[in-house]
Amino acid sequence: MNNSSDRVYGASPQDSAYPMRNRPSAITSCIIVGGGITGLITATFLQRKGINVTVLDKGKSIGGRLATRRISHENSVAGVFDYGAQYFSSSDPRFQVWVDDWLKHGVIKEWCQGFGKSDGKPRYYGVNGTRGIAQHLAQDLDVHTNTKVVEIGYDSSWLVKTEDEQQFQGEMLLLTPPVPQALDLLDASLMVLPLDIRFSLENITYHRCITVLALLEKPSSIPAPGGIALEDNYITWLADNHQKGISPDAYAITLQASPSFSEDYWDSDDAEIAYKLLSAAADYLDSPVIKYQVHRWRYSLPKTFHPEPYLALSEIPLLIAGDGFVAPNIEGAVLSGIAVGELIGKRFKG
Ligand SMILES: Cc1cc2nc3c(=O)[nH]c(=O)nc-3n(C[C@H](O)[C@H](O)[C@H](O)COP(=O)(O)OP(=O)(O)OC[C@H]3O[C@@H](n4cnc5c(N)ncnc54)[C@H](O)[C@@H]3O)c2cc1C
Repeated sequence: MNNSSDRVYGASPQDSAYPMRNRPSAITSCIIVGGGITGLITATFLQRKGINVTVLDKGKSIGGRLATRRISHENSVAGVFDYGAQYFSSSDPRFQVWVDDWLKHGVIKEWCQGFGKSDGKPRYYGVNGTRGIAQHLAQDLDVHTNTKVVEIGYDSSWLVKTEDEQQFQGEMLLLTPPVPQALDLLDASLMVLPLDIRFSLENITYHRCITVLALLEKPSSIPAPGGIALEDNYITWLADNHQKGISPDAYAITLQASPSFSEDYWDSDDAEIAYKLLSAAADYLDSPVIKYQVHRWRYSLPKTFHPEPYLALSEIPLLIAGDGFVAPNIEGAVLSGIAVGELIGKRFKG
């Protein structure tokens, strides 16, 4: 790899901000910020090629928007909720290879071939929730959760500083957070991007999504197979995690609010949001609600995305990938992760 540039980007290992005692002990080939599906696919791909890789994620658990949570009430059994991505399909043979592997290992199952009318195209779900897919990928990787990256700097190698004052050093850096969060990190690190790249990244924007997780006393009346897309002002999607198969012991419902509701009620309190959404869904619930939680996704699905699978800087080994590239869903994120992995692999081979 050619690190010929003598320009220092952001804070560097030589800065006084990094005292000797805090210096990282080992240098890894590639640091990946973000342990969502994009980061984990790239990490798996690189590790299989014998390239050292370290994944850093700020979340308590791995997976990002592949999110699954358990909720119980008093002594009742726990409901299991997918509250980020709900299901996925596959149309690209490069993604299908991963899908087949997950099917073989029992990580995913076919849920149905369409909600309402069948179109013959499988929709898959994670057997242990969608987060289970991330956990499966992460099991053999060097992954650090609860590790928020707050500053990056480049001076012949990368130095990555975390909120809890750890430091990681790497030859290449891949950023996979939702693009506005990646830009915030670059800005906080005083990294100036070439204008065309900055412009492309600022064009990638996301919908907000408020999600309500409701534990019901009785089975819902959401029709089989347990998921329904609505053209409603308030709700766009309702899922019955019990029918789906991930919540065998409790009736666990996920409600996703429409983009307009999510914008309008973003700052409302949880009780008002839950009241409005649960009332709007009453016909499908058919049961008292025992307990609910509200989750706010500031970045859910990309509204606009970049047509190329990643962005790469030519001057320094910095790459940016994720579902804001290729297509705004799990398949798009995986294709972005594969493409950027191929590029990183080639650079190391070179
Ligand atoms: C409510 C909702 C419903 C969805 N439904 C579907 C669906 O049904 N089907 C589908 O295909 N897709 C769906 N999606 C989209 C899908 O979840 C995403 O496309 C995909 O998970 C994106 O993966 P990613 O790795 O690119 O990003 P993320 O999953 O967002 O991963 C980025 C990671 O970066 C981490 N991070 C951010 N900043 C830092 C930092 N400074 N330091 C360290 N770590 C950091 C985050 O913690 C996160 O884990 C849905 C998303 C949401 C939110």
